[in-house]
Amino acid sequence: MYNSVKGIARRVIPGRLLAKYEYFLRRIIAIRYRGNRHRCNICGYGLRAFVELNDEERLCPRCGSLSRARRLYMILENEVNSGERILHFSPPGAIRRPYELRSNIEYITTDYAGEFTADKCIDIANIDESDNMFDKIICYHILEHIEEDRKAMMELFRILKSGGSCFIQTPFIEEMYEDQSIIAPEERLIHFGQEDHVRVYSVKGLRDRLTEQGFSVEVLVMNGDTDDYFGLRPGEYILKARKS
Ligand SMILES: [Zn+2]
Repeated sequence: MYNSVKGIARRVIPGRLLAKYEYFLRRIIAIRYRGNRHRCNICGYGLRAFVELNDEERLCPRCGSLSRARRLYMILENEVNSGERILHFSPPGAIRRPYELRSNIEYITTDYAGEFTADKCIDIANIDESDNMFDKIICYHILEHIEEDRKAMMELFRILKSGGSCFIQTPFIEEMYEDQSIIAPEERLIHFGQEDHVRVYSVKGLRDRLTEQGFSVEVLVMNGDTDDYFGLRPGEYILKARKS
């Protein structure tokens, strides 16, 4: 059982070379998965199966997209309009690569921890951008890492244009859980599910906190007949936070 296609390749190839040749390695590994039971809606590759990861997550061997990235990509296809300026926090390469090629939008990427390839290094709790700059902001799996999350939400609201939307997702549980006295990584792993998570939101908890900062929040519960075909996770939650 392997964790990812990158994981397989990493065992035999030095990291620096892997980053350079990842695209080509994926193309080779993907041949083993070629078929017509499923399709990746990002790269268009036909698959007999997605790569099954832990926690029911499914990976496209060709472009490296996870389920949530494919769902997000599908949503953005309906939401993003020509001429818009988009800010994407910690963008997965599977989305970043095709979006960077689009000449009809301004697509700007940022990553604070240096884990993703990106244009900028923005501190989300203190964003170095003017007010009302972006039509769309994508903020996936970021806020659960941020101690000053209310300040971050205030900043997202500030840089968003009126009429613009921020698409937000975090891990969710039934009851929001937060305890600022829990700081040690090993304790955070036990309490919040990951060593660098500072809380776990509930959908309602995140929605309420965004509403406090001025957003109008729509909770999207994603289900579709084609979920299995595209390797999407049924019942996935995404918060669309709008600045009116
Ligand atoms: Zn793909």
